[in-house]
Amino acid sequence: MSNIKENLATVQAKIGSALRVAGRPPGDVTLVAVSKGHSVDEIRAALAAGVRHLGENRVQEAHQKWEQLRESGASWHLIGSLQTNKARDALEFADLIHSLDRPELAAALDARAQRLGRTVACLVEVNVSSEASKHGMRPDELLPFLRAAGRWGTLRVQGLMTMAPLAAEGMAARPYFRRLRELAEAAREIPGVEMKWLSMGMSGDFEAAILEGANLVRIGTAIFGPRNLPMTQ
Ligand SMILES: *Cc1c(COP(=O)(O)O)cnc(C)c1O
Repeated sequence: MSNIKENLATVQAKIGSALRVAGRPPGDVTLVAVSKGHSVDEIRAALAAGVRHLGENRVQEAHQKWEQLRESGASWHLIGSLQTNKARDALEFADLIHSLDRPELAAALDARAQRLGRTVACLVEVNVSSEASKHGMRPDELLPFLRAAGRWGTLRVQGLMTMAPLAAEGMAARPYFRRLRELAEAAREIPGVEMKWLSMGMSGDFEAAILEGANLVRIGTAIFGPRNLPMTQ
């Protein structure tokens, strides 16, 4: 666990150099520490080392941790695919949902948020590589979806999220990240849609993502080491 602090410093230094290479200002990237598969004690160590944003991909696991860490003041990011029947639980803890990928989910989140009298900050997940195994909408579905998004009045679309294909390691992932940036540029024209976040880059490819404009990176293993908790849905 003592490694968490050192790992975090290493990751932050690498983010800093990638920003320099990209000619972008320091602090232009928000780091989401992906704590799925890690214990509350490990998360506390990360928070003590300065982490402010936590990413989780399973609603139940995230909700349990959030209940134990509510006083920390951290922001919670839901980065994994979300079933419509979990929209209600997700809205309890998630400050930003990165995985909006279909109209049915938009409708479920909107219905729940209306009842709560609040809005939902979310990113649309795009499957830029069109790999069948990945979640996210196809690139050609994105603009029509965003043009129709006004019908879900509580949703606040704030950007896009993607994952590069597993086989595209490190800098090989750049074309996929560039594609997401281009999609965000096209989406900027759509009224009511904000394109403030580009959520892309994980432990193996965050430097490539930063070179292509990522300003939210989701990093787990490089901070926490290998995941050790059993995965629960
Ligand atoms: C697990 C996960 C990450 C972090 O992956 P690492 O390789 O451990 O950094 C990022 N994004 C999503 C959507 C994930 O599910």
